[in-house]
Amino acid sequence: MFISISNVSKNYKNNDGTWFKSLDDINFAIEKGEFVCFLGPSGCGKSTLLNLMAGFDKPSSGEIKINNQIVSEPSLDYVTIFQNYGLLPWRTVKKNVELGLESKSINQAERSRIADEYLELVGLSDFSKCHPYQLSGGMQQRVAIARALAVNPEVLFMDEPFGALDAITRIKMQNDILEIARKTKKTVAFVTHDIEEAVYLADRIVVMTSNPGKIKSVVQVRQTSVRDRTSPDFLAARDKVFAILDMKITEEVEYII
Ligand code: ADP
Repeated sequence: MFISISNVSKNYKNNDGTWFKSLDDINFAIEKGEFVCFLGPSGCGKSTLLNLMAGFDKPSSGEIKINNQIVSEPSLDYVTIFQNYGLLPWRTVKKNVELGLESKSINQAERSRIADEYLELVGLSDFSKCHPYQLSGGMQQRVAIARALAVNPEVLFMDEPFGALDAITRIKMQNDILEIARKTKKTVAFVTHDIEEAVYLADRIVVMTSNPGKIKSVVQVRQTSVRDRTSPDFLAARDKVFAILDMKITEEVEYII
């Protein structure tokens, strides 16, 4: 296994000095090249788990390994993409993409070449000289994805990356990230609270519940790479996730005319 999460718990201290269990004994493994979605209601510990995997924080107990190395700090080998893009407003699009490369002692000509390559991959070559404020939310998130990929990480961690986007842009971005993950063969751990997004994107879905944050079930979505929101496979996986979360798919609605 490529990422292993073994007996991981995470406690936070409440203001009154008592402890709050954000994650309770999480065990899970992600294979190289897999696209795994962590799904569950707000507060079930999805972001906490992603932060631990990305090295931003340490487990209270248990351990996380990537490539057989215990994760102890953030690394350019596994980069995280957040909902708020995190672009530097005073830099151009291209200079934002070059950012991670600057700490990798790569010369300017090579940085420029790599940035161009990834801007092309995300379809933003024509916007390289723009500043982030001149771009839509979806385009800004594409810049963030290009910046993340430019350092050639082994893993992409994504924390609700499309949460701030409108529904149509979100669907486009979902297609883009699938295409990019496929082309670049990256391992992706993706946090979302959107059931359909998880079913559309994931090879496997880790369904979590809260108080304390636990894995309730793991759903294998499909083996093939075909994605179709109307296919029987998609609908069956979606229904399964709804059932795991004890939710009804159709509620009776009374219309007042
Ligand atoms: P999710 O991403 O599923 O919405 P989080 O991982 O953000 O959930 O949070 C899980 C729980 O842990 C929440 O109850 C949250 O308040 C708590 N929590 C997260 N980070 C901290 C922190 N740094 N300090 C205290 N409590 C935290």
